[in-house]
Amino acid sequence: MSEIGNVRSFEAGRLWRIDGWQEDALLSVGAHGRLQASTGTAAESIGHWVLPGMPNLHSHAFQRAMAGLAERKGRIDDSFWSWRETMYAFAAAIGPDELKAIAAQLYVEMLKAGYTQVCEFQYLHHQPDGMPHAQPEAMSLALIEAAREAGIALTLLPVLYISGGFDGRALTARQRRFGHDVAGYLRLLETLRKLESVDLRVGIALHSLRAVPEQAMREVLASDPAKACPIHIHIAEQIGEVQDCLATRGARPVEWLFDHADVDARWCLVHATHLTAAETARIARSGAVAGLCPATEANLGDGLFPLADYLDAGGTLGIGSDSHISVSPVEELRWLEYGQRLSTRHRNIAARREGDSVGETLWRAALHGGARASGLSIGELREGARADLVVLDETSPLLAARDARSLLDSFLFAGNTPLVRDVMVGGRWQVRNFRHHDEERIAARYGEVVARLAGG
Ligand code: ZN
Repeated sequence: MSEIGNVRSFEAGRLWRIDGWQEDALLSVGAHGRLQASTGTAAESIGHWVLPGMPNLHSHAFQRAMAGLAERKGRIDDSFWSWRETMYAFAAAIGPDELKAIAAQLYVEMLKAGYTQVCEFQYLHHQPDGMPHAQPEAMSLALIEAAREAGIALTLLPVLYISGGFDGRALTARQRRFGHDVAGYLRLLETLRKLESVDLRVGIALHSLRAVPEQAMREVLASDPAKACPIHIHIAEQIGEVQDCLATRGARPVEWLFDHADVDARWCLVHATHLTAAETARIARSGAVAGLCPATEANLGDGLFPLADYLDAGGTLGIGSDSHISVSPVEELRWLEYGQRLSTRHRNIAARREGDSVGETLWRAALHGGARASGLSIGELREGARADLVVLDETSPLLAARDARSLLDSFLFAGNTPLVRDVMVGGRWQVRNFRHHDEERIAARYGEVVARLAGG
């Protein structure tokens, strides 16, 4: 490493730029962990294959602790809705300390997998009985502290959750801790926005159309923060949700949203699984990001996103690990492509032109969409961007004799050995030689918390 003043310089054998690999690239990291024009001085060599870190655009951190606990057959019609009951029961015991311990462990796992930014769709606001905490934003603060401990950058999306269904019914006892009225929600948003920094962005999340009545949606979208911050919503994940929306609002969810809100590049439509051709084209044209979570969508039996049509229409997408049944951009992108192959009985679906690489197409798309959904200019290693990067293990047999043309395809599709060796966020190394600097302490605390939760 070369350091002049506070500027540090690094050299990469091959560096992934927006238009492909650059050979023998120099990177300089200056104030606030941002990249700046190279100083041209001797630099520390950091590895042969260097990629921008991947944003994870959809996370419910607390669900990490129940990953694998809903895989035993229950009622004959196990579905998303029966999984949700297990999740509600589990969530009931989680307070700020538990959330911080679970989230810190999750964020270490994310960093080690190559995620450098996470969007938290945070609806666990109040105490289990629905009463606010003494400090109303305590659960959100627990996530901020966990992200700082682990060293991952955070887009915090406090969630507005008002009703228990499209008919406007009240929240159930288990849902009460998710709820706010609009005024209370805007107060929470204002409190959290004061904490924004280089590694914390705050945005808006509407839980779903079933949980947010039209008038409330209008009021939140008319607020000042909504003009420029990311806006996320769960939409069209389930057929039942599409049917309920049709029955109560006379339109399908995506159709209804576009007819009642100004959906543009601020928006991230999470899942957007069940779409008509017209809805697919509308999302693509709008600049909104389709927030795809293929491992969770497979685990929950949600369905398949119309990937080919969406890409052909110029649509923007990103990936999230959502329920954290798996925490790996490699697995999300594999599932995204393989789901399409299985259903169409064709290969190389994400690559839309002859000669294009599936791996490059998917990695590039997920960086771009993930950055947009995070509300930040990340996802590219260029001047002014935060220095978030991933160094792959060039000594792995999985990458032996791979060149720039085949590297990303081998990274995403070959084998099951982790290839992410080092990870930097905002100019700081958080993972070196496959190890996070605080992983033992964070894992031990997580183990204690989960044992306590399991013990009831
Ligand atoms: Zn979700």
